[in-house]
Amino acid sequence: MSLTFNSGLDMERSYYAATANPFAPAPMLHDAHEADLVVIGGGYTGLSAALSAAKQGMSVILLEAGRIGWGASGRNGGQLIPGWRKGATELVKMYGEARARILFDISLRAREWALSQIAENAIACDLATSGHLLAAAKPTDLTWMRAEVETLERVMGYPHARVLSPEETRAKVASDAFHGGFLDAFGGHLHPLNYALGLANAAARSGVQLFEHSEVLSVSGERGVVARTARGEVRARHGVLACDALLGNLAPRIAGRIMPVANYLVATEPLEAPRALIADNLAVSDSRFVVNYFRISADNRLIFGGGERYTPTPPTDIASFVRPFMLRLFPQLAEARIDHAWGGLVSVTMSRLPHVGRMGDLFFAHGYSGQGVVLPAIAGAAMVEAMAGRSDLFEALAAIAPPEFPGGAALRTPLHVLGMLWYALRDRL
Ligand SMILES: Cc1cc2nc3c(=O)[nH]c(=O)nc-3n(C[C@H](O)[C@H](O)[C@H](O)COP(=O)(O)OP(=O)(O)OC[C@H]3O[C@@H](n4cnc5c(N)ncnc54)[C@H](O)[C@@H]3O)c2cc1C
Repeated sequence: MSLTFNSGLDMERSYYAATANPFAPAPMLHDAHEADLVVIGGGYTGLSAALSAAKQGMSVILLEAGRIGWGASGRNGGQLIPGWRKGATELVKMYGEARARILFDISLRAREWALSQIAENAIACDLATSGHLLAAAKPTDLTWMRAEVETLERVMGYPHARVLSPEETRAKVASDAFHGGFLDAFGGHLHPLNYALGLANAAARSGVQLFEHSEVLSVSGERGVVARTARGEVRARHGVLACDALLGNLAPRIAGRIMPVANYLVATEPLEAPRALIADNLAVSDSRFVVNYFRISADNRLIFGGGERYTPTPPTDIASFVRPFMLRLFPQLAEARIDHAWGGLVSVTMSRLPHVGRMGDLFFAHGYSGQGVVLPAIAGAAMVEAMAGRSDLFEALAAIAPPEFPGGAALRTPLHVLGMLWYALRDRL
Protein backbone atom coordinates (compact mmCIF):
# COMPACT_ATOMS: atom_id res chain seq x y z
CA MET A 1 0.00 0.00 0.00
CA SER A 2 1.30 3.41 -0.87
CA LEU A 3 0.50 6.68 0.85
CA THR A 4 1.39 8.58 -2.30
CA PHE A 5 -0.66 6.65 -4.86
CA ASN A 6 -1.79 9.58 -7.00
CA SER A 7 0.68 12.24 -5.94
CA GLY A 8 3.25 11.72 -8.74
CA LEU A 9 4.25 14.13 -11.52
CA ASP A 10 4.67 17.01 -9.06
CA MET A 11 0.99 17.29 -8.15
CA GLU A 12 1.94 18.76 -4.78
CA ARG A 13 3.66 21.62 -6.63
CA SER A 14 0.71 22.28 -8.91
CA TYR A 15 -1.18 25.56 -9.03
CA TYR A 16 -4.29 23.63 -8.04
CA ALA A 17 -2.79 22.09 -4.89
CA ALA A 18 -1.46 25.53 -3.95
CA THR A 19 -4.93 27.08 -4.27
CA ALA A 20 -7.07 24.16 -3.06
CA ASN A 21 -10.00 24.82 -0.79
CA PRO A 22 -9.70 23.28 2.68
CA PHE A 23 -10.64 19.61 2.65
CA ALA A 24 -10.67 17.44 5.76
CA PRO A 25 -8.58 14.31 5.12
CA ALA A 26 -10.66 11.13 5.07
CA PRO A 27 -9.62 8.11 7.15
CA MET A 28 -8.00 4.91 5.88
CA LEU A 29 -10.26 1.85 5.56
CA HIS A 30 -9.91 -0.69 8.39
CA ASP A 31 -11.96 -3.83 9.06
CA ALA A 32 -14.97 -5.21 7.19
CA HIS A 33 -17.83 -2.98 5.99
CA GLU A 34 -21.06 -3.40 4.05
CA ALA A 35 -22.87 -0.97 1.77
CA ASP A 36 -25.26 -0.87 -1.16
CA LEU A 37 -22.47 0.51 -3.35
CA VAL A 38 -18.70 0.53 -3.17
CA VAL A 39 -16.98 3.08 -5.41
CA ILE A 40 -13.31 2.62 -6.23
CA GLY A 41 -11.60 5.89 -7.16
CA GLY A 42 -12.17 9.43 -5.91
CA GLY A 43 -12.12 11.49 -9.11
CA TYR A 44 -15.07 13.00 -10.98
CA THR A 45 -16.36 9.58 -12.10
CA GLY A 46 -16.33 7.98 -8.68
CA LEU A 47 -17.56 11.10 -6.90
CA SER A 48 -20.41 11.68 -9.38
CA ALA A 49 -21.51 8.05 -9.08
CA ALA A 50 -21.29 8.19 -5.27
CA LEU A 51 -23.25 11.44 -5.10
CA SER A 52 -25.94 10.19 -7.50
CA ALA A 53 -26.29 6.94 -5.56
CA ALA A 54 -26.49 8.65 -2.17
CA LYS A 55 -29.21 10.92 -3.53
CA GLN A 56 -31.16 7.79 -4.50
CA GLY A 57 -30.97 6.67 -0.87
CA MET A 58 -28.20 4.07 -1.34
CA SER A 59 -25.53 3.58 1.32
CA VAL A 60 -22.17 4.28 -0.34
CA ILE A 61 -18.52 3.71 0.57
CA LEU A 62 -15.87 5.33 -1.62
CA LEU A 63 -12.30 4.02 -1.53
CA GLU A 64 -9.50 6.22 -2.87
CA ALA A 65 -5.96 4.86 -3.09
CA GLY A 66 -4.32 8.25 -2.63
CA ARG A 67 -5.92 11.60 -1.97
CA ILE A 68 -9.39 12.45 -3.20
CA GLY A 69 -9.24 14.53 -6.37
CA TRP A 70 -5.53 14.06 -6.90
CA GLY A 71 -5.86 11.94 -10.04
CA ALA A 72 -6.59 13.50 -13.44
CA SER A 73 -9.57 15.27 -11.91
CA GLY A 74 -7.44 17.54 -9.75
CA ARG A 75 -4.72 18.37 -12.25
CA ASN A 76 -6.34 18.92 -15.64
CA GLY A 77 -6.66 22.01 -17.82
CA GLY A 78 -10.03 22.81 -16.27
CA GLN A 79 -11.58 23.35 -19.70
CA LEU A 80 -15.32 22.75 -20.00
CA ILE A 81 -15.73 21.57 -23.57
CA PRO A 82 -19.25 20.75 -24.74
CA GLY A 83 -19.83 17.45 -26.53
CA TRP A 84 -17.49 14.50 -26.89
CA ARG A 85 -13.85 14.23 -27.94
CA LYS A 86 -15.33 13.19 -31.31
CA GLY A 87 -17.18 16.05 -32.96
CA ALA A 88 -20.85 16.03 -33.96
CA THR A 89 -20.07 15.42 -37.64
CA GLU A 90 -17.94 12.40 -36.79
CA LEU A 91 -20.65 11.06 -34.48
CA VAL A 92 -23.15 11.29 -37.33
CA LYS A 93 -20.75 9.43 -39.63
CA MET A 94 -20.22 6.71 -37.03
CA TYR A 95 -23.77 6.26 -35.74
CA GLY A 96 -26.23 8.03 -38.05
CA GLU A 97 -28.18 11.19 -37.21
CA ALA A 98 -30.69 9.79 -34.71
CA ARG A 99 -28.15 8.05 -32.48
CA ALA A 100 -25.65 10.88 -32.78
CA ARG A 101 -28.34 13.27 -31.57
CA ILE A 102 -29.00 11.09 -28.54
CA LEU A 103 -25.30 11.00 -27.73
CA PHE A 104 -24.92 14.73 -28.14
CA ASP A 105 -27.91 15.32 -25.85
CA ILE A 106 -26.28 13.07 -23.26
CA SER A 107 -23.20 15.30 -23.32
CA LEU A 108 -25.40 18.34 -22.73
CA ARG A 109 -27.05 16.58 -19.79
CA ALA A 110 -23.56 15.97 -18.38
CA ARG A 111 -22.85 19.70 -18.57
CA GLU A 112 -26.16 20.50 -16.88
CA TRP A 113 -25.45 17.99 -14.11
CA ALA A 114 -22.00 19.46 -13.47
CA LEU A 115 -23.23 23.06 -13.45
CA SER A 116 -26.19 22.25 -11.24
CA GLN A 117 -23.98 20.42 -8.70
CA ILE A 118 -21.72 23.46 -8.57
CA ALA A 119 -24.71 25.76 -8.03
CA GLU A 120 -26.65 23.55 -5.57
CA ASN A 121 -23.61 22.83 -3.44
CA ALA A 122 -22.13 26.32 -3.77
CA ILE A 123 -18.82 24.80 -4.93
CA ALA A 124 -16.22 27.58 -5.07
CA CYS A 125 -14.29 26.50 -8.15
CA ASP A 126 -13.82 29.71 -10.16
CA LEU A 127 -16.45 28.59 -12.65
CA ALA A 128 -16.54 30.68 -15.84
CA THR A 129 -19.15 29.85 -18.48
CA SER A 130 -17.54 32.25 -20.90
CA GLY A 131 -17.06 29.93 -23.89
CA HIS A 132 -14.49 27.60 -25.40
CA LEU A 133 -12.49 28.43 -28.51
CA LEU A 134 -10.99 25.65 -30.60
CA ALA A 135 -8.23 27.48 -32.47
CA ALA A 136 -7.38 26.31 -35.99
CA ALA A 137 -3.73 25.28 -36.24
CA LYS A 138 -4.07 24.84 -40.02
CA PRO A 139 -6.07 26.88 -42.58
CA THR A 140 -7.80 23.67 -43.72
CA ASP A 141 -9.30 23.20 -40.25
CA LEU A 142 -11.86 25.86 -41.14
CA THR A 143 -13.50 23.48 -43.61
CA TRP A 144 -14.40 20.88 -41.00
CA MET A 145 -15.19 23.59 -38.46
CA ARG A 146 -17.82 25.02 -40.81
CA ALA A 147 -19.25 21.55 -41.36
CA GLU A 148 -19.32 21.05 -37.61
CA VAL A 149 -21.34 24.23 -37.03
CA GLU A 150 -23.75 23.12 -39.74
CA THR A 151 -24.16 19.64 -38.20
CA LEU A 152 -24.64 21.09 -34.74
CA GLU A 153 -27.38 23.43 -35.97
CA ARG A 154 -29.16 21.07 -38.35
CA VAL A 155 -28.85 17.70 -36.61
CA MET A 156 -28.42 18.59 -32.95
CA GLY A 157 -30.53 21.77 -32.89
CA TYR A 158 -27.56 23.43 -31.17
CA PRO A 159 -27.15 27.11 -32.08
CA HIS A 160 -24.28 28.01 -29.73
CA ALA A 161 -21.25 27.46 -31.98
CA ARG A 162 -19.81 29.59 -34.77
CA VAL A 163 -16.68 29.81 -36.87
CA LEU A 164 -14.36 32.77 -36.35
CA SER A 165 -12.27 34.33 -39.11
CA PRO A 166 -8.48 34.60 -38.66
CA GLU A 167 -8.94 38.27 -37.69
CA GLU A 168 -11.66 37.52 -35.13
CA THR A 169 -9.52 34.75 -33.67
CA ARG A 170 -6.51 37.06 -33.41
CA ALA A 171 -8.74 39.48 -31.49
CA LYS A 172 -9.53 36.71 -29.00
CA VAL A 173 -6.07 35.16 -28.67
CA ALA A 174 -2.91 37.24 -29.03
CA SER A 175 -1.00 34.68 -31.08
CA ASP A 176 -0.04 34.53 -34.75
CA ALA A 177 -0.31 30.74 -34.71
CA PHE A 178 -3.98 30.40 -35.60
CA HIS A 179 -5.96 30.55 -38.83
CA GLY A 180 -9.44 30.95 -37.39
CA GLY A 181 -11.44 29.09 -34.81
CA PHE A 182 -14.57 27.37 -33.63
CA LEU A 183 -16.21 29.22 -30.75
CA ASP A 184 -18.70 27.38 -28.55
CA ALA A 185 -20.54 29.70 -26.20
CA PHE A 186 -21.50 26.76 -23.94
CA GLY A 187 -17.86 26.11 -22.99
CA GLY A 188 -15.89 27.59 -20.14
CA HIS A 189 -13.45 26.66 -17.41
CA LEU A 190 -13.06 26.00 -13.71
CA HIS A 191 -10.56 25.11 -10.98
CA PRO A 192 -10.56 21.33 -11.43
CA LEU A 193 -9.32 20.29 -8.00
CA ASN A 194 -11.76 22.53 -6.17
CA TYR A 195 -14.58 21.13 -8.31
CA ALA A 196 -13.55 17.58 -7.28
CA LEU A 197 -13.20 18.52 -3.60
CA GLY A 198 -16.58 20.26 -3.75
CA LEU A 199 -18.18 17.10 -5.16
CA ALA A 200 -16.51 15.10 -2.39
CA ASN A 201 -17.86 17.43 0.30
CA ALA A 202 -21.32 17.24 -1.27
CA ALA A 203 -21.08 13.44 -1.35
CA ALA A 204 -20.02 13.33 2.31
CA ARG A 205 -22.92 15.59 3.26
CA SER A 206 -25.25 13.19 1.41
CA GLY A 207 -23.97 10.34 3.56
CA VAL A 208 -21.18 8.85 1.42
CA GLN A 209 -18.40 7.41 3.59
CA LEU A 210 -15.09 8.52 2.08
CA PHE A 211 -11.78 6.71 2.67
CA GLU A 212 -8.38 7.88 1.46
CA HIS A 213 -5.05 6.02 1.28
CA SER A 214 -7.13 2.88 0.82
CA GLU A 215 -5.91 1.26 -2.37
CA VAL A 216 -8.14 -1.57 -3.55
CA LEU A 217 -5.86 -4.53 -4.20
CA SER A 218 -8.50 -6.92 -5.51
CA VAL A 219 -12.11 -6.64 -6.57
CA SER A 220 -14.65 -9.20 -7.72
CA GLY A 221 -18.08 -8.52 -9.15
CA GLU A 222 -19.75 -11.91 -9.34
CA ARG A 223 -23.03 -11.83 -7.37
CA GLY A 224 -22.26 -8.72 -5.37
CA VAL A 225 -18.95 -6.94 -5.11
CA VAL A 226 -16.07 -7.48 -2.72
CA ALA A 227 -13.28 -4.89 -2.68
CA ARG A 228 -10.23 -5.59 -0.53
CA THR A 229 -7.58 -3.19 0.68
CA ALA A 230 -4.50 -4.06 2.76
CA ARG A 231 -6.38 -3.44 6.00
CA GLY A 232 -10.06 -3.88 5.26
CA GLU A 233 -12.76 -4.92 2.84
CA VAL A 234 -16.14 -3.73 1.62
CA ARG A 235 -18.97 -6.03 0.55
CA ALA A 236 -21.63 -4.32 -1.52
CA ARG A 237 -24.55 -5.10 -3.80
CA HIS A 238 -22.91 -3.12 -6.61
CA GLY A 239 -19.55 -1.56 -7.36
CA VAL A 240 -18.16 1.23 -9.53
CA LEU A 241 -14.63 1.06 -10.84
CA ALA A 242 -13.55 4.65 -11.47
CA CYS A 243 -9.76 4.49 -11.63
CA ASP A 244 -9.24 5.86 -15.17
CA ALA A 245 -5.56 6.07 -16.17
CA LEU A 246 -4.49 4.72 -12.76
CA LEU A 247 -6.42 1.44 -13.15
CA GLY A 248 -3.17 -0.56 -13.38
CA ASN A 249 -3.72 -4.30 -13.06
CA LEU A 250 -6.85 -4.13 -10.93
CA ALA A 251 -9.11 -5.21 -13.81
CA PRO A 252 -7.02 -6.81 -16.60
CA ARG A 253 -10.14 -7.63 -18.66
CA ILE A 254 -10.79 -3.97 -19.42
CA ALA A 255 -7.32 -2.42 -19.07
CA GLY A 256 -6.53 -2.95 -22.78
CA ARG A 257 -9.21 -0.44 -23.82
CA ILE A 258 -7.44 2.55 -22.30
CA MET A 259 -3.95 3.92 -22.70
CA PRO A 260 -2.43 6.26 -20.10
CA VAL A 261 -0.68 9.22 -21.75
CA ALA A 262 1.27 11.76 -19.70
CA ASN A 263 0.53 15.42 -20.29
CA TYR A 264 2.08 18.47 -18.63
CA LEU A 265 0.99 21.95 -17.56
CA VAL A 266 2.45 25.18 -16.23
CA ALA A 267 1.02 28.23 -14.47
CA THR A 268 2.81 31.52 -15.02
CA GLU A 269 3.09 34.28 -12.47
CA PRO A 270 0.00 36.56 -12.42
CA LEU A 271 0.06 38.58 -15.67
CA GLU A 272 -0.40 42.32 -15.78
CA ALA A 273 -2.62 42.30 -18.86
CA PRO A 274 -4.18 38.82 -19.03
CA ARG A 275 -7.16 39.94 -21.13
CA ALA A 276 -4.76 41.23 -23.78
CA LEU A 277 -3.56 37.64 -24.13
CA ILE A 278 -6.97 35.89 -24.09
CA ALA A 279 -10.11 37.99 -24.48
CA ASP A 280 -13.55 37.26 -22.98
CA ASN A 281 -12.09 34.85 -20.38
CA LEU A 282 -12.27 32.03 -22.94
CA ALA A 283 -10.89 28.56 -22.49
CA VAL A 284 -8.80 27.80 -25.58
CA SER A 285 -7.41 24.63 -27.07
CA ASP A 286 -5.99 24.12 -30.53
CA SER A 287 -6.68 21.62 -33.28
CA ARG A 288 -3.30 19.89 -33.16
CA PHE A 289 -3.37 16.19 -32.37
CA VAL A 290 -0.98 16.88 -29.51
CA VAL A 291 -3.20 19.62 -28.18
CA ASN A 292 -2.06 22.92 -26.66
CA TYR A 293 -4.66 24.22 -24.22
CA PHE A 294 -4.71 27.38 -22.17
CA ARG A 295 -6.80 29.82 -20.19
CA ILE A 296 -6.45 32.55 -17.58
CA SER A 297 -6.88 31.54 -13.94
CA ALA A 298 -9.00 33.50 -11.47
CA ASP A 299 -5.82 35.22 -10.24
CA ASN A 300 -4.67 36.15 -13.76
CA ARG A 301 -2.09 33.47 -14.50
CA LEU A 302 -1.84 31.70 -17.83
CA ILE A 303 -2.50 27.99 -17.24
CA PHE A 304 -0.93 26.34 -20.26
CA GLY A 305 -0.86 22.64 -21.10
CA GLY A 306 0.81 20.90 -23.97
CA GLY A 307 3.88 19.23 -25.27
CA GLU A 308 4.79 16.00 -26.94
CA ARG A 309 6.85 13.36 -25.24
CA TYR A 310 7.64 9.94 -26.61
CA THR A 311 9.02 8.10 -23.62
CA PRO A 312 7.01 6.95 -20.62
CA THR A 313 9.51 8.64 -18.26
CA PRO A 314 8.52 12.16 -17.20
CA PRO A 315 10.79 15.11 -17.96
CA THR A 316 13.15 15.94 -15.10
CA ASP A 317 12.13 19.61 -15.27
CA ILE A 318 8.48 19.96 -16.30
CA ALA A 319 8.57 23.77 -16.50
CA SER A 320 11.49 23.72 -18.97
CA PHE A 321 9.75 21.03 -20.96
CA VAL A 322 6.44 22.91 -21.38
CA ARG A 323 7.85 26.44 -21.71
CA PRO A 324 8.95 26.19 -25.38
CA PHE A 325 5.47 25.06 -26.41
CA MET A 326 4.00 28.06 -24.61
CA LEU A 327 6.52 30.46 -26.16
CA ARG A 328 5.89 29.08 -29.64
CA LEU A 329 2.32 30.42 -29.32
CA PHE A 330 3.05 33.38 -27.04
CA PRO A 331 6.59 34.68 -27.61
CA GLN A 332 5.57 37.83 -25.71
CA LEU A 333 5.71 35.74 -22.50
CA ALA A 334 9.49 35.18 -22.78
CA GLU A 335 10.07 37.07 -19.54
CA ALA A 336 7.10 35.63 -17.64
CA ARG A 337 8.06 33.55 -14.61
CA ILE A 338 6.65 30.06 -14.30
CA ASP A 339 5.41 29.53 -10.76
CA HIS A 340 4.01 26.01 -11.02
CA ALA A 341 4.58 22.98 -13.26
CA TRP A 342 3.02 19.54 -12.99
CA GLY A 343 1.70 16.65 -15.02
CA GLY A 344 -1.07 14.09 -15.13
CA LEU A 345 -2.13 10.94 -16.91
CA VAL A 346 -4.86 11.20 -19.52
CA SER A 347 -6.55 7.93 -20.41
CA VAL A 348 -7.11 7.69 -24.12
CA THR A 349 -9.16 5.12 -26.06
CA MET A 350 -8.87 3.96 -29.67
CA SER A 351 -12.07 5.80 -30.67
CA ARG A 352 -11.57 8.76 -28.30
CA LEU A 353 -14.96 7.91 -26.82
CA PRO A 354 -15.18 6.63 -23.25
CA HIS A 355 -15.46 3.03 -22.19
CA VAL A 356 -18.52 2.49 -20.01
CA GLY A 357 -19.78 -0.97 -19.10
CA ARG A 358 -20.21 -3.62 -16.45
CA MET A 359 -18.66 -6.91 -15.40
CA GLY A 360 -21.41 -8.58 -13.41
CA ASP A 361 -22.31 -6.25 -10.56
CA LEU A 362 -19.18 -4.17 -11.05
CA PHE A 363 -19.73 -1.13 -13.29
CA PHE A 364 -16.94 0.96 -14.80
CA ALA A 365 -16.39 4.19 -16.74
CA HIS A 366 -13.07 5.54 -17.96
CA GLY A 367 -11.16 6.70 -21.05
CA TYR A 368 -12.66 10.15 -21.68
CA SER A 369 -9.61 10.85 -23.87
CA GLY A 370 -8.85 14.34 -22.60
CA GLN A 371 -12.45 15.50 -22.44
CA GLY A 372 -13.45 14.36 -18.99
CA VAL A 373 -14.27 17.36 -16.82
CA VAL A 374 -17.96 17.24 -17.69
CA LEU A 375 -18.68 13.75 -19.09
CA PRO A 376 -17.96 11.71 -15.93
CA ALA A 377 -21.05 13.30 -14.37
CA ILE A 378 -23.36 11.53 -16.77
CA ALA A 379 -21.37 8.29 -16.68
CA GLY A 380 -21.76 8.24 -12.90
CA ALA A 381 -25.49 8.93 -13.11
CA ALA A 382 -25.93 6.30 -15.86
CA MET A 383 -24.26 3.56 -13.81
CA VAL A 384 -26.45 4.33 -10.80
CA GLU A 385 -29.60 4.36 -12.95
CA ALA A 386 -28.65 0.95 -14.35
CA MET A 387 -28.24 -0.43 -10.81
CA ALA A 388 -31.83 0.64 -10.18
CA GLY A 389 -32.97 -1.15 -13.35
CA ARG A 390 -33.27 1.93 -15.60
CA SER A 391 -30.79 1.18 -18.29
CA ASP A 392 -31.53 3.39 -21.36
CA LEU A 393 -28.82 5.92 -20.62
CA PHE A 394 -26.34 3.28 -19.54
CA GLU A 395 -26.99 1.17 -22.65
CA ALA A 396 -26.50 4.21 -24.90
CA LEU A 397 -23.08 4.78 -23.33
CA ALA A 398 -22.12 1.11 -23.22
CA ALA A 399 -22.97 0.80 -26.93
CA ILE A 400 -20.17 3.20 -27.92
CA ALA A 401 -17.50 1.11 -26.18
CA PRO A 402 -14.14 1.57 -27.91
CA PRO A 403 -12.23 -1.42 -29.28
CA GLU A 404 -9.24 -2.84 -27.45
CA PHE A 405 -5.83 -1.46 -28.41
CA PRO A 406 -4.04 -3.90 -30.71
CA GLY A 407 -2.00 -6.19 -28.52
CA GLY A 408 -4.08 -5.25 -25.44
CA ALA A 409 -2.54 -3.78 -22.32
CA ALA A 410 0.91 -5.27 -22.99
CA LEU A 411 1.56 -3.51 -26.30
CA ARG A 412 -0.03 -0.16 -25.51
CA THR A 413 3.15 1.71 -24.63
CA PRO A 414 5.27 0.97 -27.72
CA LEU A 415 2.24 1.49 -29.95
CA HIS A 416 1.50 4.72 -28.21
CA VAL A 417 5.02 5.98 -28.87
CA LEU A 418 4.72 5.10 -32.56
CA GLY A 419 1.27 6.66 -32.76
CA MET A 420 2.40 9.89 -31.14
CA LEU A 421 5.37 10.14 -33.52
CA TRP A 422 3.07 9.68 -36.50
CA TYR A 423 0.58 12.30 -35.37
CA ALA A 424 3.29 14.74 -34.32
CA LEU A 425 4.70 14.39 -37.82
CA ARG A 426 1.24 15.07 -39.24
CA ASP A 427 0.97 18.19 -37.05
CA ARG A 428 4.28 19.44 -38.48
CA LEU A 429 3.33 18.75 -42.09
C1 LIG B 1 -3.03 16.83 -17.70
C2 LIG B 1 -4.48 16.63 -18.00
C3 LIG B 1 -5.22 17.65 -18.60
C4 LIG B 1 -6.57 17.46 -18.88
N1 LIG B 1 -7.29 18.53 -19.34
C5 LIG B 1 -8.64 18.39 -19.49
C6 LIG B 1 -9.43 19.52 -19.82
O1 LIG B 1 -8.95 20.66 -19.88
N2 LIG B 1 -10.76 19.33 -20.06
C7 LIG B 1 -11.34 18.10 -19.95
O2 LIG B 1 -12.55 17.98 -20.19
N3 LIG B 1 -10.61 17.01 -19.56
C8 LIG B 1 -9.29 17.14 -19.31
N4 LIG B 1 -8.57 16.07 -18.89
C9 LIG B 1 -9.26 14.78 -18.65
C10 LIG B 1 -9.96 14.70 -17.30
O3 LIG B 1 -9.15 15.27 -16.30
C11 LIG B 1 -10.24 13.23 -16.97
O4 LIG B 1 -10.95 12.64 -18.03
C12 LIG B 1 -11.08 13.07 -15.71
O5 LIG B 1 -10.51 13.79 -14.63
C13 LIG B 1 -11.21 11.59 -15.34
O6 LIG B 1 -11.84 11.51 -14.07
P1 LIG B 1 -11.87 10.11 -13.34
O7 LIG B 1 -12.59 10.29 -12.07
O8 LIG B 1 -12.41 9.09 -14.27
O9 LIG B 1 -10.33 9.75 -13.08
P2 LIG B 1 -9.32 10.32 -11.98
O10 LIG B 1 -9.59 11.71 -11.64
O11 LIG B 1 -7.93 9.99 -12.44
O12 LIG B 1 -9.65 9.47 -10.69
C14 LIG B 1 -9.31 8.10 -10.59
C15 LIG B 1 -8.97 7.86 -9.12
O13 LIG B 1 -8.92 6.45 -8.89
C16 LIG B 1 -7.93 6.24 -7.91
N5 LIG B 1 -7.53 4.85 -7.96
C17 LIG B 1 -6.84 4.22 -8.95
N6 LIG B 1 -6.63 2.92 -8.63
C18 LIG B 1 -7.22 2.73 -7.42
C19 LIG B 1 -7.33 1.61 -6.57
N7 LIG B 1 -6.80 0.43 -6.89
N8 LIG B 1 -7.99 1.76 -5.38
C20 LIG B 1 -8.56 2.94 -5.05
N9 LIG B 1 -8.45 4.06 -5.83
C21 LIG B 1 -7.79 3.95 -7.00
C22 LIG B 1 -6.82 7.21 -8.29
O14 LIG B 1 -5.93 7.44 -7.22
C23 LIG B 1 -7.60 8.43 -8.72
O15 LIG B 1 -7.76 9.37 -7.69
C24 LIG B 1 -7.20 16.22 -18.60
C25 LIG B 1 -6.46 15.20 -18.00
C26 LIG B 1 -5.14 15.40 -17.68
C27 LIG B 1 -4.38 14.31 -17.00
